[in-house]
Amino acid sequence: MATTHHQILIVGGGAAGITVAAELRAQDNHDILNIAIVEPSPVHYYQPAFTLVGAGAYDLKKTRRDESTLIPDGVTWIRDSVSTFAPDSNSVVLASGNTVTYDYLVVCPGLILNWDGVKGLRENLGKNGVCSNYSPDTVEYTWETLKNVGAGAKLLFTQPPMPIKCPGAPQKIAYLAADSLRRRGIRHTCEVRFLTQTPAIFGVPFYARELVKIAAGHDIIVQYQHNLVEIDGAAKTATFEIVGGDKQGTRITLPFDMLHVTPPQTTPSQLKASPLANAAGMTDVHANSLQHVKYKNVFGLGDAASTANSKTAAAVRKQAPVVVRNILHLLAGGAVEEAYDGYASCPLTTAYGKTLMAEFIYGGKPTPTLPLNPAKENHINWLIKTTGLPILYWDWMLKGRIAFPKHNTDFVDPGA
Ligand SMILES: Cc1cc2nc3c(=O)[nH]c(=O)nc-3n(C[C@H](O)[C@H](O)[C@H](O)COP(=O)(O)OP(=O)(O)OC[C@H]3O[C@@H](n4cnc5c(N)ncnc54)[C@H](O)[C@@H]3O)c2cc1C
Repeated sequence: MATTHHQILIVGGGAAGITVAAELRAQDNHDILNIAIVEPSPVHYYQPAFTLVGAGAYDLKKTRRDESTLIPDGVTWIRDSVSTFAPDSNSVVLASGNTVTYDYLVVCPGLILNWDGVKGLRENLGKNGVCSNYSPDTVEYTWETLKNVGAGAKLLFTQPPMPIKCPGAPQKIAYLAADSLRRRGIRHTCEVRFLTQTPAIFGVPFYARELVKIAAGHDIIVQYQHNLVEIDGAAKTATFEIVGGDKQGTRITLPFDMLHVTPPQTTPSQLKASPLANAAGMTDVHANSLQHVKYKNVFGLGDAASTANSKTAAAVRKQAPVVVRNILHLLAGGAVEEAYDGYASCPLTTAYGKTLMAEFIYGGKPTPTLPLNPAKENHINWLIKTTGLPILYWDWMLKGRIAFPKHNTDFVDPGA
């Protein structure tokens, strides 16, 4: 088995890994950094557009690119996966058995979809009206199901416990589905429910207040602290466990014609089992510097990081420059900066042609980028979601261009 060495080793070539590598290369004026990415997958998806694909408003093919076209020039792609992290010896062992040593490690292997976390989910996925926007393999069946449900249909949309990728995504598809039924003239005959394990519709009160009204405007029945535990595909029923309040532990079973499932999610087992993980299995990093709390030559970002931000590509956009600057500072003998403020953004598609752009930092403070009323859905944000953000992702983030617009941290929530 071979051992190789790279000055900066990045684990995961998703949104975070490619962005960090590209930004490092963009700042490597003298072409001296030795960077490698460990990533097993030959393809890369722009996952934020899956919501639109599931609603029939975007082509799945446009979300997919070959990983080889995204690895920045001068960066080594190790097409393998990490099986063991050994930070005490500054090394990782790969599934192939090879070892890679490093000076600096960037950990960003994202979240894994746990299709076995709900009884009956795996075997019913893609049939019997059971669909999910969360995977490229299942997302097109969401639209197929939605466009084929008839008058009188019952539609259920679920949200599991955190952590999940884009905590707004489970409800975005519920709004689009309700709007789709309305456009077909059958909305008044159908029942649409959004059942979430969480105690509120959204973690940031400023946006939650508006989203409650938007859900009511769509006549969606919202049920909090309801966690999907079992699906019977043949009977077309879904069973939920109530996780709080007087009825804690009680189970209810609902019939469905369409069941959109957001699966439970976890970090990869290799990370969970490693000394880099906290008790929740996430890369244990400082909230603002993104430096590992114990191993000072290790950084973590993206969905697998312990930071309390919303797990989004938008968060990665603001985290990556902090990780890159901190590694470059350490290489130059300097100190790390605590510059990440917890920024995340969740473009909530509230209807076809409308989006509410939820942007916020740690503590749930709203921080809009554009001078528009951040609490209101509008068409400009829909255009940003459907056209602007994919360009920002492919042509700016993943190319290492850092000139992103600044969010407004002086905005005051009038209802706070
Ligand atoms: C339905 C849906 C809707 C979303 N909507 C939005 C949105 O509107 N806005 C937004 O900003 N974000 C959205 N997101 C979230 C966004 O896609 C993620 O936050 C983002 O991709 C996180 O980047 P990441 O690099 O941490 O993880 P990923 O992009 O998932 O990449 C992780 C990579 O690590 C690799 N990996 C895993 N294990 C290993 C290992 N052991 N060794 C090596 N490599 C490994 C994986 O193969 C993968 O390529 C959405 C996601 C989904 C699924």
